Amino acid sequence: MESARIHQAMSSLSPPIMPQAQARKKPVVGRFAPSPSGPLHAGSLIAAIGSYLSARSQSGLWLLRMEDVDGDRVRPGAADTILRQLEALGLDWDGPICWQSQRHDYYQQALDHLIKEGDAYPCACTRQEIRQHGGNYPGTCRHGLAAGRTARSWRLRVPQQFPVWKDRFHGLQNTPPEQGDPVLLRADNYFAYLLACVVDDGAQGVSEVIRGGDLRTFTGVQRYLQSLLHLPRTEYGHLPLLCNADGSKLSKSSQSPAWTGSPGQGWETTLGLLGWDTPAELHGASAEQWRNWALAEARGKTPFWHPPATSVTLPL
Ligand SMILES: [Zn+2]
Repeated sequence: MESARIHQAMSSLSPPIMPQAQARKKPVVGRFAPSPSGPLHAGSLIAAIGSYLSARSQSGLWLLRMEDVDGDRVRPGAADTILRQLEALGLDWDGPICWQSQRHDYYQQALDHLIKEGDAYPCACTRQEIRQHGGNYPGTCRHGLAAGRTARSWRLRVPQQFPVWKDRFHGLQNTPPEQGDPVLLRADNYFAYLLACVVDDGAQGVSEVIRGGDLRTFTGVQRYLQSLLHLPRTEYGHLPLLCNADGSKLSKSSQSPAWTGSPGQGWETTLGLLGWDTPAELHGASAEQWRNWALAEARGKTPFWHPPATSVTLPL
């Protein structure tokens, strides 16, 4: 079992040093899950450094997962580049790397469970048909396939309303209902990110997901999937979304440039974007010096810190 291997690897680590009052609490397990569709850019540095500081400042584990579930988006060599970037930033991870491309059997098991319980159903609709309904899935196949239609994908049957959930940084959150029943297994036979992410967070024992703000609207559905799959609840916190000067989202899919500055600059810029006052005397310091300073700062902030905004703009 993959999860058994990960737990074995984790238990071989020296136990984290925890204050007496917290000694009986389960250790925090955070993670960073880049998709190897390109090298890390300034926006992914926010998620990497933010999740690292949160987990490590609580003496927790920080795991790494390559979200290469969508084989069409994977770029050769990108995963290696990401690992080298993380090493240069001084972001050391625990245990073996989890590769989603090796975990299809687990996603299939989860889907089988959902089908058995009546929570997943086959869908025959094409993209074009869904576009004709304004782009949101109208639930055409919810009560069975129409005569003569063939299943192309599998969808999750979601409730009309999701429970309100609490984001660590942004407080109570509602889930937009217009998203419709999301796809779990796509027509091209790739498992959807939504399902893979929840299954892997469960298998890796992740207790807190600190990630980019673009994933905030998926969280209600992910929490619902966790409950259907009997997985432990995860705490979610969404970091500021990095935007271009024109307000558009900076992401790999929009061909954002890779981060090419020095690792020390990467820390300084990212901490600034996260709303930290960075000391002028650290300007030009190494990644290790920045990391050690930031960890000492983060340990003194309870609980962790509050990013100032839901989106930030990269300084020119
Ligand atoms: Zn359908």
